[in-house]
Amino acid sequence: MPAHIAVENIRNHRGERVTLLVREGLVAGFASEGTVDVPDTAERFDGGGKMILPGLVDGHIHLDKTLIGLPFIPHIPGETVAKRIAAERELRRTVALPVSARGGALIEKIAALGTVAVRSHVDIDTEIGLKGLEQVLSLRESHGHLIEIEIVAFPQSGIIRDPGTAELLHEAVAAGADLVGGLDPAGIDKDIEGHLNAVFAVAERHNVGVDLHLHDGGTLGAFELRQIAERTIALSLQGRVAVSHAFCLGELDEADFGRTAALLARAGVSIMTNGPGPVPMPPVKRLAEAGVRVFCGSDNIRDAWSPFGNGDLIERAGIICDRQDFRADDDLERAFELVTEASGAMLGRADPLSPGAPADFILVDCGSIAETLAERPVRRTVFKAGRRIAEAGRLV
Ligand SMILES: [Zn+2]
Repeated sequence: MPAHIAVENIRNHRGERVTLLVREGLVAGFASEGTVDVPDTAERFDGGGKMILPGLVDGHIHLDKTLIGLPFIPHIPGETVAKRIAAERELRRTVALPVSARGGALIEKIAALGTVAVRSHVDIDTEIGLKGLEQVLSLRESHGHLIEIEIVAFPQSGIIRDPGTAELLHEAVAAGADLVGGLDPAGIDKDIEGHLNAVFAVAERHNVGVDLHLHDGGTLGAFELRQIAERTIALSLQGRVAVSHAFCLGELDEADFGRTAALLARAGVSIMTNGPGPVPMPPVKRLAEAGVRVFCGSDNIRDAWSPFGNGDLIERAGIICDRQDFRADDDLERAFELVTEASGAMLGRADPLSPGAPADFILVDCGSIAETLAERPVRRTVFKAGRRIAEAGRLV
């Protein structure tokens, strides 16, 4: 790959005609079209007049769970989280393809849609041990040219109710997981203190961040959120803790929402939402107004939890708009930020398309971010580290 690349004949999201210069896979800078001397040694790419947007960042995915790569497996019903956990463990024993093949197929699918980095939760329990983690760690090596992978050690079967899991979480982080996860301290483990003690002990001993799944609803869920925020402050983990789903934030009265959001903001605890189905969801704008960072991810993609999901984060941002009744351009831009700047910041990435940031971007034939969310174009050109890796939904 040449050291210098010039991406010409493109527009930024404000409609200005620009040239992007890339050096050693990083953004060197933008210049107004016609005002920059492109080095003779640079490779020139004609953007065809398309709009440049940041690469998409999936703040919550499960690379180890997906059944992509297999013939379609009908969904096994299960009304509660506990029943779905049991159904998944049953199914997992019979799946023919290893995580490396299924997760690899999913990475190739989403990289072709413009996803350049993901935070993947990986199941850790006393049956599967670290086997899923080992395979996702190997995917991080084999597929690093397509996607960056951050890994959360996720106790899907609980911690207290699956003795031995707490020790495995320490081992998972020592083996290469970047964060420690958790799951419904009340709803699954029936022991808020015990569950959070175990999770935050891993965070403290290994100096890693936390990202917990929280489906527990109403005032119980809000109480757990405040417990998480207080522990975050106590361990000086501000900015490094997230709670995924937090449905409860969508069903609190004014006073309970206010004090919970204020504490989350003070603790620097972020909230991940995927714009879930028929359940309450966190109110994106009210949280932002309270100073809480919200980011977005796909969550389950064709696995034991859902037959749906295609990993398309532009579509996902559109789903957030549907659920939040976002229609104005600035609201659509806010939804797009959830799958770019906000999720990227959670993964510790630089401001997208700023000088020195990875040259990870997409080109689309739309006039604005709002039009992109409305249109959800399938024809995208994807660049990773300055290299064109996909065209119109297919890797090149
Ligand atoms: Zn999840």
